[in-house]
Amino acid sequence: MKDYELGTKCVQAGYTPGNGEPRQIPIVQSTTFKYNTGEDMGKLFDLEAAGYFYTRLQNPTNDAVAAKIAALEGGTAAMLTSSGQAANFFSLFNICESGDHIVSSTSIYGGTFNLISVTMAKMGISATFVSPDCTEEELNAAFQENTKAVFGETIANPALTVLDIEKFAKVAHEHGVPLIVDNTFPTPVNCRPIEWGADIVTHSTTKYLDGHGAGVGGAIVDSGKFDWMAHKDKFPGLTTPDDSYHGIIYAEKFGNEGAFITKATSQLMRDFGSIQSPQNAFLLNLGLESLHVRMPKHVENGQAVAEFLNSHPKVKKVNYSGLPGDPYYETAQKYLPNGGCGVVSFELEDRQAAEKFMGKLRLFAIETHVADARSCCLNPASTTHRQMTDEQLQAAGVPAGLVRMSCGLEDAADLIADIRQALED
Ligand SMILES: *Cc1c(COP(=O)(O)O)cnc(C)c1O
Repeated sequence: MKDYELGTKCVQAGYTPGNGEPRQIPIVQSTTFKYNTGEDMGKLFDLEAAGYFYTRLQNPTNDAVAAKIAALEGGTAAMLTSSGQAANFFSLFNICESGDHIVSSTSIYGGTFNLISVTMAKMGISATFVSPDCTEEELNAAFQENTKAVFGETIANPALTVLDIEKFAKVAHEHGVPLIVDNTFPTPVNCRPIEWGADIVTHSTTKYLDGHGAGVGGAIVDSGKFDWMAHKDKFPGLTTPDDSYHGIIYAEKFGNEGAFITKATSQLMRDFGSIQSPQNAFLLNLGLESLHVRMPKHVENGQAVAEFLNSHPKVKKVNYSGLPGDPYYETAQKYLPNGGCGVVSFELEDRQAAEKFMGKLRLFAIETHVADARSCCLNPASTTHRQMTDEQLQAAGVPAGLVRMSCGLEDAADLIADIRQALED
């Protein structure tokens, strides 16, 4: 669907029914697939033929939805995972092993920060964290001989910093490693990191791509642009024979376009088994069909709420890259010309003021979630970051009075009226 506009791809990419076939993507609710001969099935196991044999590895419903996400991001191949966490883990573990090293932005989702700094460290994979605002020199200095990937988020959750993707891609490529970008918050409607040099894009599809708070899921998209063979020694998993697959060399057999996703499917899905259920993939696709219609509304509401908060005397500070005074405004103008997302954060006097405000809200529900149709909010200090003291919170860039608002698809006037009454004494 290369020649179509993004909205058309949201609706139709990934699945083209034949004569008399279902118009909607069928939910293939089957663990397994039948073959006439053992020989037929053997070819699939040898990766000699493409086809389905067991849903832990691949399922036609998932593949159709993954193909749509690949088309939206401008990639050559994609896979769905059971969650965003699984997507980020697979994207890194597919090219890193014990003894390797990752360079990551500090400004990333808390779960991903734990994954890289604690859990992957236990697997012998170390990391150096850099500020998303670091200079090229500072970024260069973070690299080691054994660095295999650079990781960042287009718009970080919850800090709302905006990544200078071109800068990170340039430095990553100078060191012969790919840039992996988690594009959950802007979605491909508002930013396509591959167009700015990213090599691999990941998603928590749990958020805007699903958009209705219906199913947890993730996705990995490969740009197909990274030349693994040109950096043969760095990526032996892709450029030397895989003993667990009869000596296949992924980068040779599947080329730059297919090697990364084929390896992640045939090794990591096989061994870790974090497949998205076909039911969830079907629900995800319903969300994708309206993604291009929903995102501008989320942005419109986010912008209206941010502007209102910015003008309110009780609000100490607003973080939203669509506000001209925001430190990321310029970067956002470049990478997010149509706006970023519907998530806004702002600071009230203290934890008590934040709790009082949230207690009075009627439309914004208190939830550990962001980025769906219904507006919600969270005070990190009294929930996700509850164990920290006010001093520790300040140091972590999450002041005690910070409130994160996820603006849904309701009318902006109602959202603002709700916030206004909740800010009154
Ligand atoms: C939520 C989120 C994740 C984790 O995704 P799950 O689907 O909850 O596993 C990863 N990255 C970002 C940016 C997120 O917002």
